[in-house]
Amino acid sequence: MEREVNGEQEKIDKEIFIIKVVVLIVLIIAFIILIVYLVFAPTIDLKKSKEISITYPKVYKEPGYKAKSLFNDLTNKVKVKGKVNSQKIGTYKITYIVKNFLFTAVTTRSVKVVDKEKPQIILKGKEETDVCPNANYQEEGYEVTDNYDKDLKDKVKVTVTDNEIVYTVKDSSGNKAKVIRKLIYQDKIKPDLKLKGSTNLSLTIGSTYLESGYTAIDNCDGDVWGNVKVMGSVNPNKLGTYTLTYNVQDKAGNEAIATRKVTIRNIQKTNSGCGIAGAIYLTFDDGPNASSTAQILNVLKEEGVKATFFVTNAGPDALIKRAYDEGHTIGLHTASHKYNVVYASVNNYFNDLNAVANRVKRITGYDSKFIRFPGGSSNTVSRKYSSGIMTRLASEVVNRGYKYYDWNVDSGDAGTCAKSKSSSCVYSTTTRYLSKNKCNMVLMHDIKSYTADALRNIIKYGKQNGYIFKQIDSSTPIVSQGINN
Ligand code: ZN
Repeated sequence: MEREVNGEQEKIDKEIFIIKVVVLIVLIIAFIILIVYLVFAPTIDLKKSKEISITYPKVYKEPGYKAKSLFNDLTNKVKVKGKVNSQKIGTYKITYIVKNFLFTAVTTRSVKVVDKEKPQIILKGKEETDVCPNANYQEEGYEVTDNYDKDLKDKVKVTVTDNEIVYTVKDSSGNKAKVIRKLIYQDKIKPDLKLKGSTNLSLTIGSTYLESGYTAIDNCDGDVWGNVKVMGSVNPNKLGTYTLTYNVQDKAGNEAIATRKVTIRNIQKTNSGCGIAGAIYLTFDDGPNASSTAQILNVLKEEGVKATFFVTNAGPDALIKRAYDEGHTIGLHTASHKYNVVYASVNNYFNDLNAVANRVKRITGYDSKFIRFPGGSSNTVSRKYSSGIMTRLASEVVNRGYKYYDWNVDSGDAGTCAKSKSSSCVYSTTTRYLSKNKCNMVLMHDIKSYTADALRNIIKYGKQNGYIFKQIDSSTPIVSQGINN
């Protein structure tokens, strides 16, 4: 029995021994593993925080890390996975991994790209704007810019109240912008008053002053043309400077004023002539005449001289045509040449002038703007028919684009030589008054045969004495003896 007990005890001891050995071995192995772990297990330390926030559009830069085991620096062995797109808002994960012997260390960093900048609302027009009383504000528009979002314009909320407009907008990151436009209901702008035509004009005495009109537009009231008041008046028959004052007010009482000055001036005497000293302008009135005009055209042709013919409704068309075709100037003298007709009224004069103008145009196609008044502009015979008519006509013909030509040399063929009908009288009268110091505008009549007879010698005299022969053209200034009626 004891032996059995002893045997049992031995067995138990043996088992205990084995367990102890096993435990010891396990402990030793564990200890070895622990040592190995402590020596080889890596660790990673991230520089800066594990959660980083960067503000768009700053570029993300890896802040760095360190990896090590107990005795070794493993930083070079670290693998970094993941990327940050600094141009795109979001949260990015970066993973850092390092392996050493049997061990792996893993750590992560989270990077947030955020937008903290608010959008900008830029108003077109003013932030404090005047609005016409009783009118609605017309939105002038706005633009929105944002550092990150594009096309925020559609997302702007516009809130209109009595006195202001509030514009708000949020970007995709929730940054808010707000701009206010203040509305002030008042009209401080005067109407835009504009005068048509010249604001400083000059008319010859006796002309008709015609108001050229005006426009008046108000920013709030629209067309206020009907409210314009014109003060002052012009007396075209009295020399002087007249001021017309135009005035208009809008409903808010803003006043616009404009003025026009009208000067009534005298008709100037231009006896000094036609501009070119030593020039002779041969001018023939009252024609054409079938024989004498033809003779005159022959002489002019043979002498190579150009002249001017102030024609009437008399004579054959063919001679007007010939004079025109041979290069002479065709002027207008009136159709009827009857003082009691042409000087009875302004209308009568122009009717008569138009009749001869139409004749010339029909024959030659030419629209002549050169005229000679029957009796000249200085005639006094017209007083019998209409007082002041020469004053009115002298300015009105100019207004209608005509130029008129009196003379400063009279050949005498309708005056001093008319009784004798002597060509030598015409010759001596003409040559006596020619002067090299002036421009000679010579009055002749191509209906006189003795004038035709005198012409060649007059031309010869002119040529021998160094004169030049000219015809009236558009560069020839008006020649006026002065108005006496
Ligand atoms: Zn005449």
